[in-house]
Amino acid sequence: MALTHNLGFPRIGAQRELKFALESYWKGQSSRDELLAVGARLRQRHWADQAGLNLVPVGDFSFYDQVLDMSFTLGNLPARVRGFHGDALDNYFRVARGKSAQTADAHAHCCGGAHSAQHADDGVQAGEMTKWFDTNYHYIVPEFDADTTFKLDAARLLAQLDEARAQGIQAKPVLVGPVTYLALGKAKDGSNKLDLLPRLLMAYTELLDTLAAQGVEWVQVDEPLLVTELDKHPDHDWQHAYKAAYHQLKSCRVKLLLATYFGPLQENAYLAANLPVAGLHIDAITGRDDVLPVLNLLPAHKVLSLGVVNGRNIWKTDLNATLDWLEPLSARLGDRLWIAPSCSLLHVPVDLTQEQKLDPEIKSWLAFALQKLDELAVLGRALNEGRDAVQQALAANQAALAARRASPRVHKPAVQAAVAQITDHLGRRQSPYVERAPRQAALLRLPLYPTTTIGSFPQTAEIRQVRSEFKAGRIDASSYRAAMQAEIARSVREQEALGLDLLVHGEAERNDMVEYFGEQLEGYAFSQFGWVQSYGSRCVKPPILFGDIRRPKAMTVEWIVYAQSLTTKPMKGMLTGPVTILNWSFVRDDQPRADSCRQLALAIREEVLDLEQAGVRVIQIDEAALREGLPLRKSQWRSYLDWAVESFRVTANGVRDDTQIHTHMCYSEFNDIIAAIAAMDADVITIETSRSDMELLDAFDDFKYPNEIGPGVYDIHTPNIPTREQIITLMRKAAQRIPPERLWVNPDCGLKTRQWAEVIPALTHMVAAARTLRAEQRIAA
Ligand code: GLN
Ligand code: ZN
Repeated sequence: MALTHNLGFPRIGAQRELKFALESYWKGQSSRDELLAVGARLRQRHWADQAGLNLVPVGDFSFYDQVLDMSFTLGNLPARVRGFHGDALDNYFRVARGKSAQTADAHAHCCGGAHSAQHADDGVQAGEMTKWFDTNYHYIVPEFDADTTFKLDAARLLAQLDEARAQGIQAKPVLVGPVTYLALGKAKDGSNKLDLLPRLLMAYTELLDTLAAQGVEWVQVDEPLLVTELDKHPDHDWQHAYKAAYHQLKSCRVKLLLATYFGPLQENAYLAANLPVAGLHIDAITGRDDVLPVLNLLPAHKVLSLGVVNGRNIWKTDLNATLDWLEPLSARLGDRLWIAPSCSLLHVPVDLTQEQKLDPEIKSWLAFALQKLDELAVLGRALNEGRDAVQQALAANQAALAARRASPRVHKPAVQAAVAQITDHLGRRQSPYVERAPRQAALLRLPLYPTTTIGSFPQTAEIRQVRSEFKAGRIDASSYRAAMQAEIARSVREQEALGLDLLVHGEAERNDMVEYFGEQLEGYAFSQFGWVQSYGSRCVKPPILFGDIRRPKAMTVEWIVYAQSLTTKPMKGMLTGPVTILNWSFVRDDQPRADSCRQLALAIREEVLDLEQAGVRVIQIDEAALREGLPLRKSQWRSYLDWAVESFRVTANGVRDDTQIHTHMCYSEFNDIIAAIAAMDADVITIETSRSDMELLDAFDDFKYPNEIGPGVYDIHTPNIPTREQIITLMRKAAQRIPPERLWVNPDCGLKTRQWAEVIPALTHMVAAARTLRAEQRIAA
């Protein structure tokens, strides 16, 4: 009998109930009890949805983040919130958000999700947030120091266990495993985190014993760290930590299912297979090639759980093909085979049946969390009772997949032919930067230390209002266009008054930097409710890239040309790059990511050339998410960077020498990828640096970045307004590493989440700082 189980369920709710309950509680508009009741209702519904499984996850529900929950369970609270006498839930939110209950942060996400930033606070500093492995989910980083102690508080988990059991659920508590927990945390005092392992294991032992005392049989311990390169940390012996940890936990009277996901185990297969636990889960979507080697290593008493339904994407599983592969394994493993989604379903939307507007043909190819559980049930029955028992479901699945494979909406021979014809030549500028730069300078006539912004100006309530009225059909296209043109005119006026050198149109017409392009490209579909949690109450709705990409017509030219008509200063054309569009979408599973990226590159290239044709002299192509796409394993970086850089080059480099190409990236950890960034050969790159005091420019010490660069001098993630002096200081630091002739002065990122009342003084200071620097330079010369 193959068992079915799930690793985790999305908790935000099919209608984002949790989001709204949290935000209302934070605003003081609802009570703690009301919030708790929403949580209980969601758990109850989600368990009911999973009741057909043999084992159902418990403890995967969270009011903010499962890693933060683990910190509270382990009693690992940052010192600054210990001794808080108020409500424990409020204290939890203080760590999560820097405040307990107050305004929900108006900090709309740039960068597709959250920033790995400390958010603003009202007295207590929020925990740092960072990406959960290679997903767009962000967790709150556990904090450690040499004196960290742990003190078990199992109340939350035990209460949920009781609830689940009262509902008749076969509960399997879920924990973040001890080694992954340590590895994801940060030693604030620079001490060695691994020194804490013995103390940490005492808390885990106590927790597992507590669960055993409740009669729990299986506990899932998530150790996705096992799919990363454990031997690449010179001062941390994670392999040893794994052995020590699981040898100690072996004495507990529960069975442990060690859950790994997000990639193959590869060289860690031996370690993972031989840890003294009762079962091992591996991601059989990304790690299919691992399965046989692991099986051969696995001691004969152990359960092998195979993640055969993709927990990271929204396509239907090929059930027959999966069965072809699984049946021999099932014959070999018998009761020792479990099947599950590849990872927690946290990373997919909840329910496809809610989608009313999605094209029915495309919809028939998709599966969200609930549909994935249905697939799992079909697979389980087919293994246990034979395929005949689920013949109808298999036939329907096969028909849907066959239709997708044959659909002319997916396959456009002309697009594929164009991709096949991409050559190096397509991605190469006519002349090298040193020859282009003087031509551009002659045309643009910019001063030293030219000032510019990253693209967007504040997305005011009025802009959002007009857009929603337009979408709802209450105003027509020409009124919408007029309203957007008025916003563009306003931002041009403001920029002229500020004295900025290179202007932007302000992106008023864009709701989101990826969605805006996705909506205009063929090959993209949009869901109504396809929300995925990004952090806390924030969700993103990634567009669905389903077919070969074609650009039916120009997407931005009209707006930029209009903006240019309002000023004699140069106007930047503003585009999102192919890698970023790809990384923030649900992508096709029927062709390599690289091929989808190249198709996007060709489509955006057409836009670049149309802008140039229309007289736009400077074109910025944002690659905010290029770094995010880096594979978990460094050994795979090269191949990703090769096609990512190639795609950017194809997009950007078909222009004339005197057209200036800019790119923008929302981070500046460049040390390890700077050669790839340079290979993109943009004339100017703007990056985020202000918060780190330009220290992040360290990358530019060893590697001489050859082109122009604008290190951000205005941290747009906070309402703080930098002074002229602060900006001068930052730019002086930058000038120690990069020759002033190649420096630009600009904010860290787009200004859409800020208010005009903040933007005006900040940019006034920025322009004043640039003028001072210019004057100094003249005196020196
Ligand atoms: N051009 C975009 C903007 O200014 C860039 C946003 C981003 O990098 N996340 O909004
Ligand atoms: Zn940015």
